[in-house]
This record gives sequence, C-alpha cells and structure tokens, in this order.
Amino acid sequence: MDFDLPESAQAVRDGIAAVTAKYGYEYWDKCDADHRWPEEVFRDLADGGWLGLAIPEEYGGGGQGLLELAVALETLASSGAGAAASFIYLLTPGFGALTVSRHGTEEQRRRLLPKLATGEIETCFALTEPDAGSNAINIATHARRDGDGWLVKGQKIWISGVERADYMLLVTRTVPAAEARPRTSGFTVFLVDVKAGVEAGTLSYRPIPKMGTNTVASSMVFLDDLRVTEADVLGQVDAGFAVLWDILNPERILAAASGVGGAEAALRIAVNYATERAPFGKPIGTNQALAFPLAKIKAQTELARLMTYKAAWLWDRAQPCGSEANIAKLTASEAAWQAADRTFQTHGGMAYSLEYPVARMFRDARIGKNIPVAEELVLAHIAQHDLGLPKSY
Ligand SMILES: Cc1cc2nc3c(=O)[nH]c(=O)nc-3n(C[C@H](O)[C@H](O)[C@H](O)COP(=O)(O)OP(=O)(O)OC[C@H]3O[C@@H](n4cnc5c(N)ncnc54)[C@H](O)[C@@H]3O)c2cc1C
Repeated sequence: MDFDLPESAQAVRDGIAAVTAKYGYEYWDKCDADHRWPEEVFRDLADGGWLGLAIPEEYGGGGQGLLELAVALETLASSGAGAAASFIYLLTPGFGALTVSRHGTEEQRRRLLPKLATGEIETCFALTEPDAGSNAINIATHARRDGDGWLVKGQKIWISGVERADYMLLVTRTVPAAEARPRTSGFTVFLVDVKAGVEAGTLSYRPIPKMGTNTVASSMVFLDDLRVTEADVLGQVDAGFAVLWDILNPERILAAASGVGGAEAALRIAVNYATERAPFGKPIGTNQALAFPLAKIKAQTELARLMTYKAAWLWDRAQPCGSEANIAKLTASEAAWQAADRTFQTHGGMAYSLEYPVARMFRDARIGKNIPVAEELVLAHIAQHDLGLPKSY
C-alpha cells in the first residue's frame, strides 16, 4: 500500500506510531469524556518535532509538506484518537503553520513559525458565521479602516480551540459583500492576538454545548471593535480569498486523512470483535452479512487514502487541487461513517456500552460528513467543476 509514499512520509508513519503506542483507546475515551485536551500526546508530538513537520527548516520545522502532515494525522487517527487527532493537526500545524509558511511576511514567519513548530503558541481559524455557513462569500464580519489599522465587528460560530489559541486566523470583509466586484474580492485575513483581544474586552467567546469532539470546545465568538493593524494582515488586504483557499483545501485534505485513519481504527475494532465473538459457536465474522460490508469499506478506505495523498502532493507543489481535495474529503468521510456504522452493527448490544470506543467513533464520524464542508457542497463543487454542470447555488 505504501508504494507511492516518499521515505519522509514512511518515517512519519513510524514516528507517530511510536508515540501513539503509549496511548490506548481508554486514554482517548477519557479525554473526550472529561472534555480535556490530550496534553500528553500533544507534548510528545511537539517534542518529537511531529507538529512542525511542514514548517521550513530555517524556521525550526521539519521542512516537509502537507503530505507528511496528512500521514501524521492519519496515523494518529488510526491509533484510536478519532476527532481529537483532527484538532491536534488542524488547529496549529494546519491552520497556523501551513498558512503562515505560505502567506506570512518574513517578520510573521520569524516571529511565529519557530513557536508554532514547538507547540509553544497555538492557533484557531474563524470563518463560519451564524448567517453564512456554507456560503463564505456572505460573511458579514467587517473590518473598517481606523487610523493606521482597522476595527473589526462581527460574530463567528463554531470556532474550535479559541479557548487555547494565542492567534486566530480571522476571515473578514474589508469590502462589504454587496459592494464587492467580483464577490470573491474584498476579503482580508487577519492574525488576531486572541489573549490581547480578550483582555481589551473586544473579543469574547462562549462554548456551544455539543454532541462529541469534546477534546476542544467549539465556540461563538464576538468581535466588538477589535483592533488590528497592518502587521496582522495575512496575505494582501482585500485579496484574502487566495489565502482562504490555501486554508480550506488543506483543511479538506487533513479532514480526509482523519477520515481514512478513523475508518482504519473502526475496522480494526470491528474485525477484532467479529473474530472473537461466537454466540453460535463460530466467530460472527464467518457470516458474510457482517464480513462483506467491512470488506467493502476497506476497499473504499484504500481509495480515499490514495486521493488524499494525491491532493496533498498537489498542494505541496502549489498546483490546483480543489477537485482532489473535495473528492478525498467526500470519500474519506463516507468511509469513516460507514466504518463506524458497521462497527456499531458488528458489536450488537455491546455497541451501546461505553466500555468500547464505538459510541465515540460513531459520534465523531457522523459530523465528518457535515464539516469542515458539508457533503452537499462538495457534490455541488464536483458537479460544477468536474462535470461541467450548471452552478446550483
Ligand atoms: C464540531 C464543529 C467544529 C467546527 N469548527 C469550526 C472552526 O474551527 N472554524 C470555523 O470557521 N467553522 C467551524 N465549524 C463550522 C463548519 O465548518 C460548518 O458547520 C459547516 O461548514 C457547515 O455550515 P453550516 O453548519 O452553517 O450549514 P449550512 O450552510 O446552514 O447548511 C445546512 C445544510 O444545508 C445544506 N446546504 C446548504 N446550502 C446548500 C446548497 N446550495 N446546495 C445543497 N445543500 C445545501 C448543507 O449541505 C447542510 O447539509 C465547525 C462545526 C462543528 C459542528
């Protein structure tokens, strides 16, 4: 299966597997149940250099790319970490490190990348708004010019990890949607100092009670004349859409890697149970009604993995990867959900016991079909861009 992986990615797989060997399902179940960040694993990964993999070496990173980051996340998820793996790799190594590496100024790179590599500072990403979910073009959070900077007013929703973050990648409109021509212009992405905003009383947040993915909170965020300056701009003023796509495509690719790893973990649990459980005197896995769906999911998972690697490989070469990122995300999240559902079925009544990680996987895999981009929007993208059908929205 690893025939197409460069040696660097193979080494990442082995390195992450060595870290995760110390932590079993019980560890991840407990972090989720206690609503606790997996601090020990995060530290081990940071100390081993596994968080800064995609940061250039001159800024203290591993000098590798999104492909290696995707392999790291997949391996972590496959160890049983579930959604916790996504947050570990998306929030800081993904949103923060990848974006500052590609779009940051020299000053931002020197100031931030070495600390992002060691996990000393952390980041989160704020795009979604109550009235602009799937339709990012319609966001209303507005940064208006004020002296040598801007004052930002608006509201964001579902912002994961803001309570931990030192910096937030905040997507704003510096030209209101109604005036922007084309409508994708007039966006500016700012690197916001979260703690300074909280102290000044211009940034506040409130966690949303949620069904799962409990190792970080996901919050409403309120911005009330939050002050930002030229030094905080990530990319170009009014041209933030280019930066945004370089956040959204890696986000989809990393979410796909998480789905592939999650599917692997669920399949492993299902196969163990189906091999051991024998209410009629022979393992339940002997029955093709149980075995065939698992075999089919295994095939889907392998295909999703290939597309995930291809998308990451393209992104690393700054080549267009929108279709590949969307197809990877679609197929991997579906494989993860099918795997969780069939693992649930394979466990019979025991699926409902919290002694097994099945319930956690079931919850985590289900939201993967809706975030970071909903399945319908991915299908709309493929219909329009890959099939040439008329735009549906
Ligand atoms: C646990 C969690 C963590 C999150 N973390 C973050 C984060 O850190 N940062 C951040 O910015 N956001 C975050 N989000 C938000 C997430 O990205 C959005 O929930 C997601 O993009 C979907 O947007 P929405 O919920 O507004 O759905 P909506 O856009 O309201 O869509 C609702 C449903 O309608 C369908 N639909 C909408 N428009 C169309 C159309 N044109 N054609 C067909 N179907 C359509 C959608 O597919 C979906 O099924 C998080 C969400 C969750 C649940």
